[in-house]
Amino acid sequence: MGSSPAVPGTALVVGGGISGLLSARELAAAGHQVTVLEAGTAWGGCVGSHVVAGLTLDSGAESFATRSDAVARLCAELGLGGKIVPPRPGGAWVQLPDGPRELPRTGVLGIPANPWDPEVRRTLGTLGSLRASLDRLLPASVGAGAGVTSVAALVRARMGSRVLERLVSPVVGGVHSADPGLLDVDMVAPGLRAGLRKHGSLAAAVLAQRRRAGTAAAQQAQQGQPAQQAQTGKPAKAGSAVAGLEGGMRILVDALVAELQRLGVTLLPGTAVTAVARTQDGWRVEAAAASHSAALLVVAVDGPAAVELLEDAVPAIAGKKPASGPDVKLVTLVLDKPDLDARPRGTGILVAPQTPGIQAKALTHATGKWDWLAAAAGPGRHVVRLSYGRVDGASAQPAGPEADEELFASAVRDASALLSVRITGEDVEGWDVVRWRGALPFAAVGHRERATEIRRACAAAGGLAVVGGWVAGNGLAAVVADTREQIGQLTAT
Ligand SMILES: Cc1cc2nc3c(=O)[nH]c(=O)nc-3n(C[C@H](O)[C@H](O)[C@H](O)COP(=O)(O)OP(=O)(O)OC[C@H]3O[C@@H](n4cnc5c(N)ncnc54)[C@H](O)[C@@H]3O)c2cc1C
Repeated sequence: MGSSPAVPGTALVVGGGISGLLSARELAAAGHQVTVLEAGTAWGGCVGSHVVAGLTLDSGAESFATRSDAVARLCAELGLGGKIVPPRPGGAWVQLPDGPRELPRTGVLGIPANPWDPEVRRTLGTLGSLRASLDRLLPASVGAGAGVTSVAALVRARMGSRVLERLVSPVVGGVHSADPGLLDVDMVAPGLRAGLRKHGSLAAAVLAQRRRAGTAAAQQAQQGQPAQQAQTGKPAKAGSAVAGLEGGMRILVDALVAELQRLGVTLLPGTAVTAVARTQDGWRVEAAAASHSAALLVVAVDGPAAVELLEDAVPAIAGKKPASGPDVKLVTLVLDKPDLDARPRGTGILVAPQTPGIQAKALTHATGKWDWLAAAAGPGRHVVRLSYGRVDGASAQPAGPEADEELFASAVRDASALLSVRITGEDVEGWDVVRWRGALPFAAVGHRERATEIRRACAAAGGLAVVGGWVAGNGLAAVVADTREQIGQLTAT
């Protein structure tokens, strides 16, 4: 099918996840006539939802980081400021080979700000804390050089392997589904190595980042947007400097879509883009039923798909396709189990990779985490979500359960062990398996540099931006802040 020339003031957005929807909103607000093309039938991408045993639940992202006010500000603009809620206090636990422990307070990716904090010492043992505290004596150059690029290399060099195995691996596995030995530290903890150079030790760099997060949370609380640290006055536990939305993160997607409709944006679900070409006056994309042209193009899909779509039009990025993210399987159980009212593992539990007998890598006790969900579920009913699948280093982990029934059986077994409450199939009112294939961008060592090169080449092509978790860094806070910046630059040119 032929296409008409690109009309000035028009824009195409490929991908209807958070980065695509937000791009469309920013472009429409800047006066552009926008069309969004989304391959799937639902909007929001990884911010999805599903119904299990009559409860509408988040099927992907269920919270956002409060280290910056990026998401809270967007929510406020969309009229959702009053819906922002902190998780219930108590924080998460970690399952170690020698048993469960409360996850210590303070930390970035589980890296402690104070190795002698009593909770940290309980988790590491005295020798582990002693080794970790050597960090303060080592020259700042250790771990800050170009040779150290993975999270594991940095942590091992500064604080030793106990911190790596008992704190960082479980947290990183839970958040990124990846081995810290493979993850680019500059991608998953931006600014941490710069902080090390500036403050002289990794612990001090972590503390500085946590203080900034605390300040952002306090500012949000002042604006009527509660965050856990601001409410309790205590530093947050690792992985708990987050907030959610009453009703689930899906209400953010619903609000964005409603705003796009109000702004007159054309929304085309079920429209997978198969090719992109540069034209004299802009860009043309091919989808199954038609081609579409516009002056501006935003590509808001995962990294491998973005490079595949763009490499003909932007030859400088050919061969730079990033690795696909790990496949994550989430098993949700709705349980009739009043024993769980006591929240035996707080908001959930992360599993250290060497833990025998457990196949899940993390369990979220969703009704133990969010008051609104506990109220919706009703007395004695509980929602737990277990995640499976992890990319590991040289010694690839056994694949783990794959089929739905296998995953269900594992989830019931793992939930019993991790929550220390006997759970059987009879307690299960409903369950579901959701598969996220390659959805968590795999920030392999060297990824930051590659993503920067790709961006530079795309910017040089003119009228083009690439956005999304694979370039911004995983997580809604990073994606929202980065998308706004990129669209700001695109519309300013
Ligand atoms: C299971 C899971 C749990 C998570 N939990 C959290 C959390 O609690 N907190 C947090 O902050 N972050 C979380 N994240 C990360 C967060 O959800 C993502 O960083 C963010 O949603 C990514 O948004 P995006 O727009 O970059 O990509 P996506 O959400 O992946 O959107 C990309 C969209 O592009 C579409 N697409 C792909 N190819 C094409 C094509 N050729 N044509 C048209 N459309 C196409 C896809 O269908 C998809 O809808 C989680 C992620 C996952 C997978």
